[in-house]
Amino acid sequence: MLKSICKIGSSLHSVLEAISHEPIGIAFVVNVKGQLSGVLTDGDVRRLLLDGMAIDSVIEPQHLSDCISAPLGTPHSQLLKLSNQKVRIIPLLDDNGVPVDFFRYEHKTNFIPVAQPDLKGNELKYLTDAFLSTWISSRGEYIDRFESDFSNFCGVNHSITVANGTVALHLALKALGLGAGDEVIVPDLTFAATINAVIHAGATPVIVDVEEATWTICPNKIQEAITANTKVIIPVHVYGQPCDMERIMSIANEHQLYVIEDAAEAHGAEFNGRKVGSFGHISTFSFFANKIITTGEGGMCVTNDVALAEKMRTLRDHGMNASKRYWHDEVGFNYRMTNLQAAIGCAQLEKIEDILAERQNIEHKYKSILEHENVLWQKEIEGRKKTVWLVSILSDSRDSLADKLRQKGIDTRPFFFPLSAMDIYKPYCSKPCPVSSSLSVRGLNLPTYIGLGEVPDALKQAFQEA
Ligand SMILES: *Cc1c(COP(=O)(O)O)cnc(C)c1O
Repeated sequence: MLKSICKIGSSLHSVLEAISHEPIGIAFVVNVKGQLSGVLTDGDVRRLLLDGMAIDSVIEPQHLSDCISAPLGTPHSQLLKLSNQKVRIIPLLDDNGVPVDFFRYEHKTNFIPVAQPDLKGNELKYLTDAFLSTWISSRGEYIDRFESDFSNFCGVNHSITVANGTVALHLALKALGLGAGDEVIVPDLTFAATINAVIHAGATPVIVDVEEATWTICPNKIQEAITANTKVIIPVHVYGQPCDMERIMSIANEHQLYVIEDAAEAHGAEFNGRKVGSFGHISTFSFFANKIITTGEGGMCVTNDVALAEKMRTLRDHGMNASKRYWHDEVGFNYRMTNLQAAIGCAQLEKIEDILAERQNIEHKYKSILEHENVLWQKEIEGRKKTVWLVSILSDSRDSLADKLRQKGIDTRPFFFPLSAMDIYKPYCSKPCPVSSSLSVRGLNLPTYIGLGEVPDALKQAFQEA
């Protein structure tokens, strides 16, 4: 069944909707009898809009582009001859001229990226709805809905949308009153945003090593790093692996410290049956395009503490008094998310269980194919349910493997460099971090996204040749 079909006389908006049903950037436009009249590409729609057509105006035959079509059953070799890099899609028609399928020309140098967002649910529908509502800034129903749906998903009381995962961390630190002289313990193996937010808050990061098996921050090392100035611990659930939240929370309670979980890479991961993000005093998420779910750019702070939630809402919005407009009690920020981004987020969240399951499947597939290869995986620990952000392996021949894969058109990503290896962060690390250094040179992230197809087989070949 062809899904990207629409009729002459329908609106440009419904053409866009039809286009979104297949990842080919084209809508097949049919007459009243269902016969193919022509096609409209996403580029055609853009041109029509630029020429002054409105999004709800109607498609007429003169708007359509001609296209090459072929009868259903045309041999593959002939379809290949008809197609080229410009004519990539050939609609296939039944005896009555009704489009029933299409042929797609695949360019030989197909490049497999590490990540790719899956936007085939209600994303375009909600985005268009938000757009047409004219609520395109940071108020609107999708903001409210995204926040309450996300609270339900994580099992927390309050969610506060923000512009990205980095400012989410900064907002959390400012809401906890962090500033000069305060120390914040962070893991050595993480994306730089974790430590940058601490430095921008005016506090002092203290870098500690991670564990060999889980790749997450080591509770013993946290304990050793605590001083009279320590105020916050930021455990990072790196590559989807939950940190040991039981020990970390008990260390924090013992020393009266705050915990901010950086869950940017771990939406849906669980520790002892509870979602990550529900343990810390505040937890943060990222919705960058390569994360588990996306809003393009975007982030979230979650908390069970109503006072912290109110504080973050105020600071997010210039520190403006909630009941007295244009009265400012604190020096705040503009860290708001737009309703357009939240619309995409709502559609992503609707299908997050499927996304998480599919990512698990992808990892299983990699695991079965690489069963006899000399690679190590992030350890599965009893009581912890990790999510698969990017499938991650450790290999002693990491760099040559990455080269082999690149030659086959498969992109990979080396692990983060240890923070302590970089000159700008070195001063914040007083003890060596041998574990993160050793993980960092061996670690490789493999392509992980919905619709990945047969990449793992190509990977096996590359392993055998490497
Ligand atoms: C991606 C990421 C962030 C930052 O998120 P952005 O939305 O890109 O600002 C923070 N921490 C970790 C661990 C991340 O992976």
